Amino acid sequence: MNATTLDRYAVMGYPITQSLSPFIHARFAAQTGEQLSYTRQAVAPEDFEREVRAFFASGGQGLNITVPHKQAASLLAEQLTDRARLAGAVNTLKPQPQGLLGDNTDGVGLLTDLTRNLRYDLAGRRVLLLGAGGAARGVLGPLLLAGPARLTVANRTAARARTLAEQFAALGPVEGQALQDIDIEVPFDLIVNATSASLHDEVPPLPREAVVEDTLCYDLAYGRPDTAFTRWARSAGSRHTAMGLGMLVEQAAEAFQVWRGVRPDTRPVLEALLAGEGWD
Ligand code: NDP
Repeated sequence: MNATTLDRYAVMGYPITQSLSPFIHARFAAQTGEQLSYTRQAVAPEDFEREVRAFFASGGQGLNITVPHKQAASLLAEQLTDRARLAGAVNTLKPQPQGLLGDNTDGVGLLTDLTRNLRYDLAGRRVLLLGAGGAARGVLGPLLLAGPARLTVANRTAARARTLAEQFAALGPVEGQALQDIDIEVPFDLIVNATSASLHDEVPPLPREAVVEDTLCYDLAYGRPDTAFTRWARSAGSRHTAMGLGMLVEQAAEAFQVWRGVRPDTRPVLEALLAGEGWD
């Protein structure tokens, strides 16, 4: 089949050069026999609405939305899924007869990676979520719904952490704090780094005592072979570190299902990425 007759999908962000999504969706399509193309498109904030409208007006079938457009996408969508409304951010757009549907698959992506790929049960755990930006907002609801004993959101700008905690308080026991005020008398079972510090090869200022051998330290960012945060966590004594590559593949699989109604098998795609394929 010729590329012009394939159903068209894309990811829009700014910048977008490093995106692994085209590789992931091409693998999903090959695996499931779905006929589609998936490209990446750099779109500056001032062009975002126009480019989204143009993509769908020309017959595009679905978009992934990444930094810095997730909030703008939630305002652009005519309908939101419950999880997108909860997150206040959209990473998946799909045209429907009633208008553009906005969804958010980031939270379920993280939860699937934690619970299925890493076999981590969140029930009764003491969880620290670092950061209060778009990604933290997207994962906070699903994390709370998984039943932790307590969840602390800690952010460099404390007011953002407190606001986030207040907004999600109905879903579970959550508090918001400044990074420097974290109570480390009892170490955490799980620390999720949802700051963008790793993108600048930095680590949020966290006392080493927050981590013990059994603390799972999960960085939403990913790198080859690691990130500043996972390196720091190992040096602080954690034996369990993970990066957001699994989350990336799982959120993509969820978006693929929203668009195509077919669930791809994520494991071979994650294994391929871990083996170094798709990074160029
Ligand atoms: P935002 O820009 O919305 O938020 C950034 C957050 O990081 C803010 O809370 C900010 O604090 C904090 N921060 C930035 N630099 C530092 C620093 N040096 N020390 C401490 N805190 C810092 O980014 P996103 O929420 O969209 O993205 C966060 C991370 O999640 C990125 O690394 C991104 O790549 C990753 N991500 C991964 C996904 C995946 O599928 N694996 C999906 C989505 C995101 P303040 O409020 O004080 O400015």
